[in-house]
Amino acid sequence: MLVQLSERVHAFLGGVNCAIVQLEDSRALLVDSGQDKEHGRKIRKALNELELEPSVILSTHSHADHYGGNAYLLRQFPQAQVWAPEVEAEIIRAPALEPIYLFHGAKPLPELTSKWLQAEASPVHRVVGAGEYELGGVGFDLLDVRGHAHRQLAVLVDDVLLATDSLFGAATLDKYPFPFSQDVGGQLDSIETLLGLVEKGHVRTALPGHGEPTEAVGELAELNRRALHDAASVVEAACQGVGTEDVLAAATREMGAIMTDLARYHLNLTTITAYLGWLRHEARVTCSLEEGRLLWRRT
Ligand SMILES: [Zn+2]
Repeated sequence: MLVQLSERVHAFLGGVNCAIVQLEDSRALLVDSGQDKEHGRKIRKALNELELEPSVILSTHSHADHYGGNAYLLRQFPQAQVWAPEVEAEIIRAPALEPIYLFHGAKPLPELTSKWLQAEASPVHRVVGAGEYELGGVGFDLLDVRGHAHRQLAVLVDDVLLATDSLFGAATLDKYPFPFSQDVGGQLDSIETLLGLVEKGHVRTALPGHGEPTEAVGELAELNRRALHDAASVVEAACQGVGTEDVLAAATREMGAIMTDLARYHLNLTTITAYLGWLRHEARVTCSLEEGRLLWRRT
């Protein structure tokens, strides 16, 4: 579903949100492309409706649900260029890396290679970082909002924040008490960055990667920050001289995050590991190798 967020920014809402920024000469900047060919097809229809053709597809990070439509859209619009941040670009070019890292670097279980976790490969024509850009007569900022993904970017165009997965909608946070994280400290810093922009009046409305667009951007950022701190406290409390998997079991039980499939289990395991790494950095937990097990203890 297309929703207009400003004169030239359109949100394409779905299970994962994408955005279309109108440029000069019927061109567009497409921000993320959805999870697969089917999603790409719907975006193409939306672009047709707006009478726009993408000149750039910005893949904000390398999770399959955000760039899985790239390959299809590039077949439809061969002149389009894909932009992506460093590190993320490598995974977008070689999507097998996502299930591989979720399985500790080993050959992944087949359940981890579904389209939800392994998209069709896409070229990346330009590796981009945070900074000011101009494209087709429109200026915009790419923001370093790393954390959910190692080099996640968000877009600020006019006063619209295309947050992608640097912010989750309230309903998504309710449903997933441990939203995927690769770097918890990075996420907290990123939320500070976004709150700073809100305080300076640079952001009127925001589109999270999953959930509804909102004008209560400061509140949404605060909600995300609280969710991170709450989850960190639950993980910390579970560190009673037990192994990583015990921490995972205790923390997900405490938060009512039921794991019924191998994909969700491994996503949560990576997320819990990100929390443990951050808590150790903050000196709130320690880890030690004992009899072949890595045990975590709160300090
Ligand atoms: Zn993501």
